[in-house]
Amino acid sequence: MSVLANVEEIHSNIRQACEKVNRNVEDITVIAVTKYVTIKRAEEVIEAGVHHLGENRLEGLLDKYATIKNQVNWHFIGSLQSRKVKDLIDKVDFVHSLDRKSLAKEINKRANRTIPCFVQVNISGEETKHGLDPKDVPDFIDELVNYSNVKVVGLMAMAPHVDDEQMIRDNFKRLRVLRDEIMNKWLKHAPCSYLSMGMSNDYVIAIEEGATHIRVGSRLVGSSD
Ligand SMILES: *Cc1c(COP(=O)(O)O)cnc(C)c1O
Repeated sequence: MSVLANVEEIHSNIRQACEKVNRNVEDITVIAVTKYVTIKRAEEVIEAGVHHLGENRLEGLLDKYATIKNQVNWHFIGSLQSRKVKDLIDKVDFVHSLDRKSLAKEINKRANRTIPCFVQVNISGEETKHGLDPKDVPDFIDELVNYSNVKVVGLMAMAPHVDDEQMIRDNFKRLRVLRDEIMNKWLKHAPCSYLSMGMSNDYVIAIEEGATHIRVGSRLVGSSD
C-alpha cells in the first residue's frame, strides 16, 4: 500500500477506537517511526499530513534531520547514551526514553531550553525491555525537580510481544494507572499527562486504553523501501 493509504487507514482506525471509548481524535498524536526507511519515504509521510517523526538511533535522526529539519516534530524513541545527548538535543522536540538520573542530568546540562521528556517504564517486566521498574517511577520523577530543562510530559512503554490481546491491554492499563498517579500529584516539573504507547500491532488497543502518542513504523511507512 502507498504511504497515503496507510495514513488513511490508521486515521480511520483511530477514529473508530476513539468513538468506541468516547475520546477525541485530536488528543491522539501519530508519530511515524522512520527508522526502517529512507528520507524519501519519510518525506512521503510528511506529505500525507503526518507532522511527527520518530527515530531510535542518533545517526538515523541526524541523517534525516539534515534534509527535513524543522518541518516536523522530532521524537527520539530509542535508548539514549548520555555521551550522545549533546549531538541530539538541539534537534529533538521530545525524548521518549528517559530512564535514569544520569541521563536527566546530561539533558539538563546540554539543553538550552526545556525538553519535554517521557519517562520510559518497563511495564511488562521483561528483562529485554528498557525502562524503569514501575515501582521506582514516582520517586524517580520526584528527584527530577531540580533539572529545570527536563519536563516530564508523560510515560512511555512497550507492550510485551505476545498474541494475547488481554495481556497487552493489561500492560497498557497499568501504565495508565501509573500515569494518573503521577499526574494527580500536580508537580510543576512533571505534568505527566501524556501516554506514549502503541505500535503497529497494538496501537488500537493502546488508544482504547488512553494512549495520547502512538509510535507507528511498519504499518505506516513500511519496514524497508
Ligand atoms: C521501532 C519502534 C516502534 C515502531 O515499531 P512498529 O512495530 O514498526 O510500528 C515504536 N516504538 C519504538 C520504541 C520502536 O523502537
